[in-house]
Amino acid sequence: MKGGKLIIFSAPSGSGKTTIVRHLLAQPELNLAFSVSATSRPRRGKEKNKEHYYFMSVSEFKNHIKNDDFLEWEEVYRDNFYGTLKSEVERLWAEGKNVIFDIDVVGGLRIKKKFPDQTLAVFVKPPSVDELKIRLKKRSTESEDKINMRVAKASVELATAPQFDKIIKNYDLDVALQEAIDLVADFVSEDKE
Ligand code: 5GP
Repeated sequence: MKGGKLIIFSAPSGSGKTTIVRHLLAQPELNLAFSVSATSRPRRGKEKNKEHYYFMSVSEFKNHIKNDDFLEWEEVYRDNFYGTLKSEVERLWAEGKNVIFDIDVVGGLRIKKKFPDQTLAVFVKPPSVDELKIRLKKRSTESEDKINMRVAKASVELATAPQFDKIIKNYDLDVALQEAIDLVADFVSEDKE
C-alpha cells in the first residue's frame, strides 16, 4: 500500500478531536477525506452506518481480522473493536485525497509507524482530566460507568502525547481549530518525496 498523505488526530475521548477533524474536513483547500473506521460497538444517537462507522457484529469484525483486512485494529473497550480497513484508505487514495483519521492513540501510532514519511500524527490535549469528565457528562450519550471507563483510559493516553509529531492543546476551541488548519495545511503542501 502506498499513496497520498495520512493525517491522524488522536486524543482521549471528549478532548474535542472530533470537532477539530470535522472543521478540517470543511476546508476544501486541504483536500481531506475522512477514513470511516469499522467498529463492533453499538450505534449511538444519530450515527449513521458507513458515514460515522462501518457498524458490524463482533464476529464480522473478527472475520476481517482473520482475513488481514485491517491496517490496524484495537479492542479499545471490552468487546468494542475498532479498526481501519485497508480498503477504506485505498479507496480514498484512489480519489486523490489526503486521508484524515479520528482514532485511538495506539492505532494512530501504529499507522505512523507503518507510513512514517506520509503521516502527520497530532495529539489533541484536553485542559485536564477533570474537564474531560465534565465534557463527557455534558455529551450525556453514555452511562456513568462508561464515562468512568473513558476517563480512566484518558490518563494512560495522555502519557503517549510525546510520541506524536505535534500536540494541540484544546484549551480554547477557536485557537485549537486554527492551529489544526495551519499544521495540516503545512503538511499537505510539503512536496512528496
Ligand atoms: P467512540 O466510541 O467514542 O466513537 O470511539 C472510541 C475510541 O475509539 C476513540 O478514541 C476513537 O478515536 C477510537 N477509534 C475510532 N476508530 C478507530 C480505529 O479505526 N482504530 C482505532 N485504533 N481506534 C479507533
